[in-house]
Amino acid sequence: MERLSTFHFKNRLLTPIQYVKGVGPKLAKLFEKKGILTVEDALYFLPRCYEDRSHLKKISELKAGRKETSFGEILLSGVAFYQNKRKRVFEVVVGDGSGTITLKWFRGNERYLRERFKKGRQLIFSGEVRWFNYQREIHHPDVEIVDGDMEKDYLNFKRIVPIYSETEGLYQRTLRRLMKTILDGYADELSSPIPREIVERQDLINFSEAFRRVHFPPEGESIDALNLQRSDGHRRIIFDEFFFLELGMGLKKRGVALETGISFKTDGVLVQRLLNHLSFKLTRAQEMVLAEIKEDLEKPHPMNRLIQGDVGSGKTVVALLTCLYVVESGYQAAIMAPTEVLAEQHFLNLHRWLEPLGVKVALLTSSVKGSEKEDLYQRIGNGDVQLVIGTHAVIQEAVEFNRLGLAIIDEQHKFGVVQRGLLKKKGGNPDVLVMTATPIPRTLAMTIYGDLDVSLIDEMPPGRMPVETKVFPEPARAKVYRIVEEEVRKGRQAFIVYPLVEESEKLDLRDATRMADHLQKEVFPDFRIGLLHGRIKSDEKEAIMMEFKEGKIQILVATTVIEVGIDIPNASVMVVEHAERFGLSQLHQLRGRIGRGRYPSKCILLAQYRSSEEAKVRLRAMEKTTDGFKIAEEDLALRGPGEFFGIRQSGLPDFRVAHIIRDTPILIEARKEAFRVIREDPELVHPSHAGLKGILVKRWKGRMELATIG
Ligand code: ADP
Ligand code: MG
Repeated sequence: MERLSTFHFKNRLLTPIQYVKGVGPKLAKLFEKKGILTVEDALYFLPRCYEDRSHLKKISELKAGRKETSFGEILLSGVAFYQNKRKRVFEVVVGDGSGTITLKWFRGNERYLRERFKKGRQLIFSGEVRWFNYQREIHHPDVEIVDGDMEKDYLNFKRIVPIYSETEGLYQRTLRRLMKTILDGYADELSSPIPREIVERQDLINFSEAFRRVHFPPEGESIDALNLQRSDGHRRIIFDEFFFLELGMGLKKRGVALETGISFKTDGVLVQRLLNHLSFKLTRAQEMVLAEIKEDLEKPHPMNRLIQGDVGSGKTVVALLTCLYVVESGYQAAIMAPTEVLAEQHFLNLHRWLEPLGVKVALLTSSVKGSEKEDLYQRIGNGDVQLVIGTHAVIQEAVEFNRLGLAIIDEQHKFGVVQRGLLKKKGGNPDVLVMTATPIPRTLAMTIYGDLDVSLIDEMPPGRMPVETKVFPEPARAKVYRIVEEEVRKGRQAFIVYPLVEESEKLDLRDATRMADHLQKEVFPDFRIGLLHGRIKSDEKEAIMMEFKEGKIQILVATTVIEVGIDIPNASVMVVEHAERFGLSQLHQLRGRIGRGRYPSKCILLAQYRSSEEAKVRLRAMEKTTDGFKIAEEDLALRGPGEFFGIRQSGLPDFRVAHIIRDTPILIEARKEAFRVIREDPELVHPSHAGLKGILVKRWKGRMELATIG
């Protein structure tokens, strides 16, 4: 019985919106604009805010300086002229017997306004009340024409009313009416099979009821809680989203723990030889992380670990040491980097370290072509190559490893869960290590990387010189050039970074190519200037990097291709052009390219005249701190989680209502409960857990392999 109705549910909720009574093809098109295709989409289309219309104020009671809602009849409407007839304003005078107020529109289609606001019509309006010429008025109010009997209209009046995000042709009253129809017809079909025990412990209301209340709040709900998305209904829906996210995470994590992996031996002759070879000693933090990794390697289950460490904390060498354990055990390792430049640089650096050890390493990027590629594929396939360094090219279907034992992903925030999965598939069941320089608060790490164990390199190599960051306005350009010149004369090197490769008139950006030319000929004729950007061919790129590394090029003009990972200890100045166009985390990454050697370094952020307020906040944050953790938090706050993590690309289920930062307390509770379920019933076979699997599969839409739970 239960089963049958479950089957029925799905279909009904997936009913195309067009077939809902009162919608039809025309309105369906408008719904589509809002991303609403099905009944279920519509149910999740929650009000953007609420308005308390349970007790409408009289017009005489409206106070200036407050957002108010009232009701009245149109006494007068038409265009008024101001400033010697130069300015047209559409005005509507509304009265209710107690007083009058003027509603004003400074823009908008006059014909439409005239048509809509005919004398004698009743309307409800809200907005901020202001004083002007001893009268009260509201500019661009939210307005609803009231037709029919207001006393009987319980959808739009005498209650807390939902305000939806509108679109041209699809307005509040229509939305409310249709949402009501949809709720009445379909809300019962929503199900969230969270076990009763959890529902009780967490004091959650019924799932369908949550939707009813959130769309049409019953009497007694707090308008403030509703507007903050903190009502019981909101909490129930958000809990549901987080619970299934974390249930998936928990299963993944457990799945990995159950898989049979390779138990590597870690007596580590190669590791010891490299350590002896290095010009530095590992930091305490590096040693601790390596110890954690070692433990994972020895276990007969695949490692699934994330290393977080600020830019320059020395993640690369830890990665390499990990590779050596694996190679020594007779397996292959792969390191995947997000950009070709970074992959090339890893290759150059590691090659230098690996050569004396006799480890065979190869570079695989999309620039490797033709017979060279075939040859490389073959050497990877027969196990001749022990360590492959590359870009996405490594996860191409055609690449087959002989015995892949370890996959390392550098700068994880650029890759998604899906890509991680693909790399994993290249081997029987390789250990996976991901590295990121985007430190994020712990609770968030649990969500985004919830299936990983986390290690932290929370210490910088000793002797790092501080980087001083300063914002310079465009008129100070000459001074900036002098600073660069001074450093280069001392034997240091400089980066000059541009946001784009080619000139774009529209954006008024300086073109890196043109500027490199200009700097060489007119500003620094005595120095050698190199140019690096994404469109330069890879062997050429490699040559330029090499020359810069060897100090033959003093100033490297580059686009953000150098954003991640590049390591030139002798570079002590960085000038970022159009700094106002970069995001915070990106600026921090860029800045991480300097201050890597023995020299105090300078990061110069050149900002254009017209930077937005937000850009100024960003640049000031850069001046204030070099702590990647603080920067990440600030960035998160400025941009919001979606953009920050690129959640859409990351392969995690999308949230329709939940907000990772705003709702962190709910997230923590949901995680606790989800993990408890998995601990107690890992196969989800208990009768009270029936239905969980179905929802999981749906939410994760194939982004999760549920094979492990049967
Ligand atoms: P990131 O964590 O940003 O990837 P890298 O691994 O590129 O940082 O390391 C930055 C620089 O610090 C490199 O030149 C590396 O050789 C050096 N380095 C790494 N570990 C140490 C250490 N323990 N002592 C001194 N220098 C180190
Ligand atoms: Mg790195």
